[in-house]
Amino acid sequence: MTLEQEKNPWLAAEVRFDNAAAKLGLDDGMRKVLKSPAREMTVHIPVQLDDGRLEVFTGYRVQHSIARGPGKGGIRYAPDVSIDEVRALASWMTWKCAVVNIPYGGAKGGVICNPALMSDGELERLTRRYTAGIMDMIGPDRDIPAPDMNTNAQVMAWIMDTYSMRMGSATTAVVTGKPMELGGSLGRQEATGRGCMLVTLEALSRFGLKPEDSKVVIQGFGNVGGMAARLMAKRGFRIIAIVEYDGAVYNANGLDIEALMAHRKETGSINEFEGGEAMDKREAMFLPCDVLVPAATENVITSENAGKLNCRILCEGANGPTTAVADGILAEKGIFVIPDILANAGGVTVSYFEWVQDRQGYFWNEGLVNSRLEEIMVRSFADVANWGEKRKVDNRTAAYMLALDRVASAIRLRGIYA
Ligand code: GLU
Repeated sequence: MTLEQEKNPWLAAEVRFDNAAAKLGLDDGMRKVLKSPAREMTVHIPVQLDDGRLEVFTGYRVQHSIARGPGKGGIRYAPDVSIDEVRALASWMTWKCAVVNIPYGGAKGGVICNPALMSDGELERLTRRYTAGIMDMIGPDRDIPAPDMNTNAQVMAWIMDTYSMRMGSATTAVVTGKPMELGGSLGRQEATGRGCMLVTLEALSRFGLKPEDSKVVIQGFGNVGGMAARLMAKRGFRIIAIVEYDGAVYNANGLDIEALMAHRKETGSINEFEGGEAMDKREAMFLPCDVLVPAATENVITSENAGKLNCRILCEGANGPTTAVADGILAEKGIFVIPDILANAGGVTVSYFEWVQDRQGYFWNEGLVNSRLEEIMVRSFADVANWGEKRKVDNRTAAYMLALDRVASAIRLRGIYA
């Protein structure tokens, strides 16, 4: 397999799926049903640019499964979005929602564009026209989008407004990750990072380690990595390095994360931070540490570099940071992997809380959101770990088996509509 094939997310998703399906003894028919995305839509979106030109963008929405409930999953804006990626991400949402046992299927959307080069007006027009294009697929009972790479609460507000104008009434539950003023939930923004911290704490206790004795390296300092860093630092972890796309910063005694955030806000980058030393971003990921949190994008741990990792615990904050080929290398090294479909499920879990609150029209305080998130993450970690111990499989295989089993059983109970 070439490195390029190894990095195809849909292939990575298939390898993990096939492995878990074989271990579960799923029959061929059920495997076909579980593997195939239920619905896929491609839209070509005309957008008037600020300079008057008309441009056409391509966008996708894939509902991988709607067996356990409405589709659920984010929308990403990036130049390298592809149907294979969106398909893989949609299937990961199915397994993720099943692992934490929330009543959703899995979906994902993406638009091929470069938001860094677009004005707010252009982004708004793109978002509204994309929403109009996928309008028939989404809805509080059908498919509920949320933020993902390069989308945020403002983008969700535009989607909510476009959908609501079409429906003739304010429909807040059509998206999650909204601003607080429009039915957003307290704790949603930090939820993915909080979830990462919670499962890492569970993993640490298996090693008899305390947060204060644990060195952490985090790759990515956006919504997931930044929040994980902030919350882990508050909890006493020593964050020795932050690795970004344009550099890395290191401090053996632990970085002052709040100061680093302030520095980044001021200068636009983590580079030239006085509270640490600059480091080669390619090397920083291989620093000896207790916990490595890849929290940026897919394919950062591959067959080429997995052998160099120097961590005890790998907490996958991003979706798909490890290729399927690298899995074997991590296993040989004895690294305890908290797989993405468990490690980063805090975000969609609080999205679920947001949707529940919107539908009830009754909002929870932050303490309640956080304690319910903790309950779900701790229970899900135990479910995966117990499944793995009982069947002598690694955590990723256990998480996939548990998820596939839950979705297959929902499909069996519903039967096939004909
Ligand atoms: N984009 C996030 C994820 O990949 C959140 C999805 C959601 O909240 O629906 O899990």
